[in-house]
Amino acid sequence: MKFRTIKGTKDILPDEIAGWQHVESVVRRVMHDFNYREIRTPAFEQTGLFARSIGELTDIVSKEMYTFLDRSEESLTLRPEGTAATLRAYIQNNLGEQSPLTKVYYIGPMFRQERPQAGRLRQFHQFGAEALGASSPLLDVETMVLPLEIYKQLGIDRFALKINSVGCEKCRPAYKQLLQTELRKVFSQLSPDSQARVEQNPLRVLDSKNEKDRELTNNMPLMSEHFCEKCALHFASVRSLLEALSIAYEVDGRLVRGLDYYTKTAFEITSTALGSQDALAGGGRYDLLIEELGGKSTPGVGFAAGIERLLMVLSKLGKSKQTRATPILYFIGLDEPARIWAFLKANELRRQDICAEVDYLGRSVKSQMREANRQQAHYVIVVGEQELKTKAAKLKNMRTGEETSISLDDIKIPS
Ligand code: AMP
Repeated sequence: MKFRTIKGTKDILPDEIAGWQHVESVVRRVMHDFNYREIRTPAFEQTGLFARSIGELTDIVSKEMYTFLDRSEESLTLRPEGTAATLRAYIQNNLGEQSPLTKVYYIGPMFRQERPQAGRLRQFHQFGAEALGASSPLLDVETMVLPLEIYKQLGIDRFALKINSVGCEKCRPAYKQLLQTELRKVFSQLSPDSQARVEQNPLRVLDSKNEKDRELTNNMPLMSEHFCEKCALHFASVRSLLEALSIAYEVDGRLVRGLDYYTKTAFEITSTALGSQDALAGGGRYDLLIEELGGKSTPGVGFAAGIERLLMVLSKLGKSKQTRATPILYFIGLDEPARIWAFLKANELRRQDICAEVDYLGRSVKSQMREANRQQAHYVIVVGEQELKTKAAKLKNMRTGEETSISLDDIKIPS
């Protein structure tokens, strides 16, 4: 029996790794420049954490979580996103008491049992950041700038930023009722998914991707027409800060996003280089969530961005990093004592940070040479009885073909 990857999961093979490492290093650099520190939380948590934060009625919680009972009958779930676990760690470790503002980022795998298609996987990777402890719109904008800066540094300049505000606990309830009244009038014509949301989360109906739903809700009232003064001011500040930074954006009054925890700002970044799954990143403010999870009332804002989709965009734009690591020095051993000597010497050089490689397969000289070429070694040294006796050999530059005499006791690689 041959085992295979689970549907919706992928191996990331050595030939692809340069692209991943490049993205990760740009993420880390930009996060560092913005003074966000990395946090790593476990891949699985108590199921209740996600149900409570993301929302029982969301697609993620109701249909997509990998939930299982462990051997002690506790319900656990592979994390479907990064915010809930980050906040759990923030509360559990009293990070809020160490400093009034906590800025953290993460990179890692997430798990959702969605229908796999291009750009939609069951194990996928996200990077994201959370700024916890302040309600300033400066941070709403900072969490938009972070992914945009990362995309820019990776060479992507075409993306669309859509923003909205979903109101707060003061203005949303009245608007929710108003919207519900309107939705009930067309209830029977709505898609089953939207029907299920009318009572619990009517705002999500506006965000439905179903054409008929969109048509029916086209002229329905929007949250922006019913903001309280604080929400109106907050949204206006976000907009003017984006303008001050010359960041193009579009206000999308229907943008709600698939997680229930947002208050005020919600945003999404899409790429025209992607097909139907065009969302690259999403985020927003969640001022009630930390308290909801048992912490002190603390405002927060954050974003999450998909790495696989980002790599798809980079490859469509011809900006993928494909450089592979190649050995700097390849030893070719003519006989067994020379091979052993090369093995020991390679270990010594590796300690000096020189990527040195030897033959482990007892190959002929010809096929060792072929292997050095296949691996695109920069230099080759051939060693045999004669070289070991005189401690002298030739260092061959594989790019130019040039050979220089060297001492085996003092191997120096030209820089
Ligand atoms: P979300 O946590 O749903 O707001 O998603 C944030 C970002 O993660 C999206 O914009 C996508 O780029 C990425 N993403 C979400 N779900 C998947 C998935 N199933 N497969 C691949 N990428 C995903």
